[in-house]
Amino acid sequence: MLRLTDLKLPLDHPPEALAGAILARLALPASALRGFAVFRRGYDARKRGAIALVYTLDVELVDEASVLARFADDRHVQPTPDTGYHPVAQAPARLEHRPIVIGFGPCGIFAALILAQMGFRPIVLDRGKAVRERTRDTWDLWRKRNLHPESNVQFGEGGAGTFSDGKLYSQISDPHHHGRKVLTEFVKAGAPEEILYVSKPHIGTFRLVTMVENMRGTIQALGGEIRFDQRVEDLRVETAADGLRHVRSVRLADGSELRSDHVVLAVGHSARDTFEMLHARGVHLEAKPFSIGFRIEHPQSVIDRARFGPQAGHPILGAADYKLVHHGNKPGQSGRSVYSFCMCPGGTVVAAASEPGRVVTNGMSQYSRNERNANAAIVCGITPEDFAPYGEGPLAGIALQRHWESHAFAMGGGDYSAPGQRVGDFLAGRASRELGDVLPSYKPGVHLTDLSAALPGYAIGAIREALPLFDRQIRGFAMHDAMLTGVETRTSSPVRVRRNEGDYQSLNTRGLFPAGEGAGYAGGILSAAVDGIRVAEAVALAITGSEPRA
Ligand code: FAD
Repeated sequence: MLRLTDLKLPLDHPPEALAGAILARLALPASALRGFAVFRRGYDARKRGAIALVYTLDVELVDEASVLARFADDRHVQPTPDTGYHPVAQAPARLEHRPIVIGFGPCGIFAALILAQMGFRPIVLDRGKAVRERTRDTWDLWRKRNLHPESNVQFGEGGAGTFSDGKLYSQISDPHHHGRKVLTEFVKAGAPEEILYVSKPHIGTFRLVTMVENMRGTIQALGGEIRFDQRVEDLRVETAADGLRHVRSVRLADGSELRSDHVVLAVGHSARDTFEMLHARGVHLEAKPFSIGFRIEHPQSVIDRARFGPQAGHPILGAADYKLVHHGNKPGQSGRSVYSFCMCPGGTVVAAASEPGRVVTNGMSQYSRNERNANAAIVCGITPEDFAPYGEGPLAGIALQRHWESHAFAMGGGDYSAPGQRVGDFLAGRASRELGDVLPSYKPGVHLTDLSAALPGYAIGAIREALPLFDRQIRGFAMHDAMLTGVETRTSSPVRVRRNEGDYQSLNTRGLFPAGEGAGYAGGILSAAVDGIRVAEAVALAITGSEPRA
């Protein structure tokens, strides 16, 4: 098989044009082509009047060797790589202690799945509930303002990405094609097949719920165990004869203790109490940069028109997304980077708090992405130096988050409404008194106010600087009626639970495998899932004493 990349065809090309384009590109007669499959399909919308589809294709030819020789210097004509998944180890017949996975978000799910597929029968512990019950609890906040601290957008089966847009792309380096393994398992669990080939796949909330249940079933069928309502409150760490600290067991909220020498820590970025416990137990933690800002909402039609021009609404293109960055490093500028994050075309803004008395926003959508508004976070990068007014040490970023989330709760009126403002008023520095054409989608509701008090002054200044510049790239971005809702404080983990590069174990606690977004090693569903696979492999190698793959 031969892989042909960067083959461009017009947006409305007929299906049969693909074979013709392959033959023309490779200068071959029709008889030379046995078949082909689309590996990836993206689009190039830089020329709005002439949007092109861009294909990566796996092509089967009568004589591949001679074509590869003829195109030896062409990086777009290469042998198809092996993207199949190959396990690194097999569990021994007798396993003294089963590995434990803390957290059943994308990272924990894939860590558990891979361990189960290799025969290690992991025990998964999640503080939240199974996904159907969790869905009810989450809606209880959105509909009735009742927050369930252990069962919400952040905690419970499926993790933080369950009520999301389900975007499945990432820019991580992935030499072993683990991302492909993730997508393949998602399709087995009920995701649409197209996620295997479209360049920016997404699943949407509705399907994610069923997929997560199906993946739970697969892990259980392979001998894994998944326990909900099981918050890990402590670790037992001993200094062994080798002079090193080793994890020996985990203690649960109900007081019970589970013995294991191999514990995957995949707790997500909102497990603040767990980070406090790890710090108290002497596990190496570091403060890490993250970003803060607001959600912005526009009519989806404004974004579609700006991105796709006359092709707006084309079924292959779907609802348009965007990615915007402003570095603020020119003379006279803020010196801060501001960027769009977690853009949800045709979606809604959601209440994503996990602690009582705090407000935090995020975004989600359904597979169809057909809600009226587009939303994205517009956030300003901050570093550990910015955390100083809120505390010191590795947990100071959490103190900053808590401060501004509590403040947002108060600004919203103290009933889980979020503070909001029209963009025009935000830029003019006056409170909003009434809504315009863009109705905010955040549930349970938005309280109009002046957001300039909702975040530190440097972040407000940087966002004010960036919005008009973004309007030059997407006409209408700084429109008066666009809505800002806040605060967006959980863009990534405020801590890193640092691990060794080679064996993925905590810097100072053997047997503890920090993983996924909470540990600071992923950002998003796909990268968290890929990290889960890497860590599962590291656990398998540690248990069996095998060598890592080359
Ligand atoms: P998490 O998904 O956070 O999972 C951690 C799990 O650990 C949770 O289930 C929690 O209950 C459990 N846990 C925590 N502490 C303990 C403890 N002490 N004991 C036991 N269990 C514990 N990313 C994308 O790529 N695309 C998107 O479209 C997208 N949209 C999002 C929308 C929303 C509303 C949110 C909140 C996030 C979104 N994200 C999205 C981000 C994505 O969800 C995360 O990057 C991803 O879920 C991180 O995976 P994880 O497994 O590392 O952690």
